[in-house]
Amino acid sequence: MRRKIIAGNWKMNKTIVEAVALAAAIKREVGQIEHPVMVICPPFTALTEVSMALKDSEIQVGAQNMHQEDSGAFTGEVSAEMVLTSGCSYVILGHSERRTLFSETDQLVNAKTRKALTVGLTPIVCVGESLTQRQAGQMETVIEGQFNGLLDGLSAEEIRRIVIAYEPVWAIGTGQVATPEQAEEVHRFIRGLLARQYDEATASEITILYGGSVKGSNAAGLFAKENIDGALVGGASLKADEFVAIVKAMI
Ligand code: PEP
Repeated sequence: MRRKIIAGNWKMNKTIVEAVALAAAIKREVGQIEHPVMVICPPFTALTEVSMALKDSEIQVGAQNMHQEDSGAFTGEVSAEMVLTSGCSYVILGHSERRTLFSETDQLVNAKTRKALTVGLTPIVCVGESLTQRQAGQMETVIEGQFNGLLDGLSAEEIRRIVIAYEPVWAIGTGQVATPEQAEEVHRFIRGLLARQYDEATASEITILYGGSVKGSNAAGLFAKENIDGALVGGASLKADEFVAIVKAMI
């Protein structure tokens, strides 16, 4: 059975003290639940403290980004090993904010994905079309193009170790969630791409998350769909009760 995952992307929010308090509040409610897998992704500065706060729980910690090189003169960057040794087991890569605000390309995200896999991190790799692209009927072409670039050269064994997040850009932070049908259509399309590039068995094992304005009130409808294996949650993951409600919608 595919791994179901609820991941929270805290973006550039929460000081260390605030992050530990939020992690502790989530742990109190759902800390011992093994399935779905919960992953919280605080800013780099809070990774170690949050990991320590969650040590005796089932909740995993992830970073929101990392650099593709091992070390060196890359001022302001953080390596995969640094992320790993801060207590992380996951890393979000290729988020649309990284692509639009920090000019990340599919090729760069591919390099980061490979590096994350070499140190044993599970990359959560994001794809998604903009509103203009969707309205122009280009959704499938855009997703397929990103998919080919992001996952270029990955073996079936490697692909089984990644998580894909479908995050339509028009739904991120807008309150305009995709309908379960809209999301399912794209998830099915992505699974089809995986089957074509690898094989049916591999495609059926890969967790595909939906992201974009997921809340406690709309999560269950999304999770009822066959190919939606959980969520990557932004805004609602900053409130313990909302995040917990999303987790409970999966149980
Ligand atoms: C995100 O940024 O990954 C995201 C899904 O944000 P939100 O849930 O706030 O739309």
